[in-house]
Amino acid sequence: MKSHGYAAYDKSSPLRPFSFERRDPGPTDVAVEIVYSGICHSDIHQARDEWGGSMYPMVPGHEIVGRVTAVGKDVKRFKEGDLAGIGVMVDSCRVCENCKAGEEPYCTKGFVGTYNAKGYDGVLMHGGYSNNIVCHERYVHTISPKFGDQLPGVAPLLCAGITTYSPLRHWGVGKGKKVGVMGLGGLGHMGLKFSHSFGAHTVQFTTSASKIDDAKKLGADEVVVSKDEDAMAKHAGTFDFLLDTIAAPHALDPYLNLLRLNGTLCQVGVPEKSSALGPFSLLTNRRSLSGSMVGGMPQTQEMLDYCADHGIVSDVEVIAIDKVNEAYERVVKNDVKYRFVIDMATLKT
Ligand code: NAP
Ligand code: ZN
Repeated sequence: MKSHGYAAYDKSSPLRPFSFERRDPGPTDVAVEIVYSGICHSDIHQARDEWGGSMYPMVPGHEIVGRVTAVGKDVKRFKEGDLAGIGVMVDSCRVCENCKAGEEPYCTKGFVGTYNAKGYDGVLMHGGYSNNIVCHERYVHTISPKFGDQLPGVAPLLCAGITTYSPLRHWGVGKGKKVGVMGLGGLGHMGLKFSHSFGAHTVQFTTSASKIDDAKKLGADEVVVSKDEDAMAKHAGTFDFLLDTIAAPHALDPYLNLLRLNGTLCQVGVPEKSSALGPFSLLTNRRSLSGSMVGGMPQTQEMLDYCADHGIVSDVEVIAIDKVNEAYERVVKNDVKYRFVIDMATLKT
């Protein structure tokens, strides 16, 4: 199948147009014409090789919403014309105990990423900043018609949404819990919406005083500017759970000190360098430091359906694809409210 999109050709040049081929849909595949594609900070980390091992040319994008254009003969859940969503994974071994349990991010063979990854056949995968994609139906999600004209805000649910929904569910966030969300960006604003929607007393931590009003509108019961040591000290030893979505290296001790007995800080942000912490921050109050990677296929569908039923979407700024490099600069400068989404129709013009 002929495809075209925008690619990073190396770690320092701007993204530019790129034509390539994808496999024709096989019996269990779904072909999707991409309508919207979100810009995740992970796209920037990988395009710029901040985690090491990046493969070029790289068509980023793992927050994909589109319409099905063809289905293989054995496909059961989709037909031509249906809305479809694809996230961070396009394949996994499907037979290990984690895949069988619907925990594909933890596939023991290693899942196949939507881009910057090779399929099990050795072919380099390309992501959502493109006109179409082919994917095994297991890794394609149904998108409820209840979202109506909010499709741009649905695209970021495929990564920012599930990456925050999954740990909040895993650690039982809900009524009676005090929860903190660290960083108000693409992931953070979804974590805030979910924690509020699940009924937890939710505190937003931010380095940007300019985001205080937004955080309250998005559902925060309280907002703390993390540079304000007195404000931080008032919350010492009181949190059940902290969700760390910060994209840059940062000290963990000031946040760990906020956890009560048996409290957990879960890291989902992936800064370029690891974050320092002192042992007493964990020993005190028997605290746990953990991590979480996106979410499995069943839980991603559960999250999408939860959002459709509860009117939750991402707050987005829709851009044309020729503005993608500008958008990258703005994300890095912390100037986005709260996710850029590319309108793929602009690829044609
Ligand atoms: P983003 O939109 O850029 O948001 C990151 C937020 O971090 C910013 O809005 C900012 O919030 C805060 N921040 C930035 N620089 C900071 C600094 N120097 N010190 C403290 N806070 C700072 O990024 P995103 O798309 O939400 O992604 C967040 C991270 O999660 C990235 O590292 C990404 O790669 C990772 N990620 C992980 C997974 C996973 O499976 N675990 C999935 C997707 C993404 P304030 O202005 O409020 O301080
Ligand atoms: Zn992502």
